[in-house]
Amino acid sequence: MQTLRRIPYYHQILSDMEQKGEQFVSSKYLAHFFHVDDTQVRKDVSVIGYKGKPKSGYSVSGLKGAIGDFLGINTENTAILIGVGRLGSALIEYPGLSEYGLKLVAVFDSNPVKQDKVIGGFTVLPMESLKRVIQSFDVGIAIITVPKNAAQGVCDLVVEQNIKAIWNFAPTQLSASADVTVRNENMAVGLALLSHYLKKRKAESAIFA
Ligand code: NAD
Repeated sequence: MQTLRRIPYYHQILSDMEQKGEQFVSSKYLAHFFHVDDTQVRKDVSVIGYKGKPKSGYSVSGLKGAIGDFLGINTENTAILIGVGRLGSALIEYPGLSEYGLKLVAVFDSNPVKQDKVIGGFTVLPMESLKRVIQSFDVGIAIITVPKNAAQGVCDLVVEQNIKAIWNFAPTQLSASADVTVRNENMAVGLALLSHYLKKRKAESAIFA
């Protein structure tokens, strides 16, 4: 599980290195970001199935490509976004999504005032067009950026249309059948964990003071 968590970060580090024109990376260098040892990095790389030469360093582009294949981000995934408010608009205009193989094909909002507006090159569509668009573009991922009280309803609508992957930004736990993967991006949870670690650290330093 920890390996799976680290792998996307390896990809990010390798992308940065590639941009700087670096060609080789050692397992030791990758290890220092995660406070693990280089043996662990080599184990992670073997999970990906990449056959590099750890002693002379892995090829940055080779390892990045292998991770991309492993994660499926070298293949384009079509996505729709629902809820074109502050966060939705920012995501639509964020160029980084395509770097991770995400191809946005349409955006939706239930508010008639927003419909027909153009954001980041996309005309905001009414929810009534959802079914037609999902079927015509063979959409794989639905990004949900609606308020939390509307998120479950939107989730049900996309699951009805056979969407199997949901990227949810609303701070609520969505319920969907077991064959649907829901990835929650919850800032409140992240912050709560951070404050828990901080509290623990303070308690530990009080004991040793
Ligand atoms: P917002 O109010 O600016 O935008 C929400 C949009 O969703 C609106 O355009 C609204 O018309 C639309 N909407 C509401 N109900 C809908 C429905 N049933 N179907 C389709 N569209 C619907 O809100 P926001 O700030 O963009 O936040 C969106 C979600 O993301 C919220 O759940 C929020 O908690 C979460 N979030 C926001 C931020 C942020 O920085 N703004 C950060 C993290 C998480």
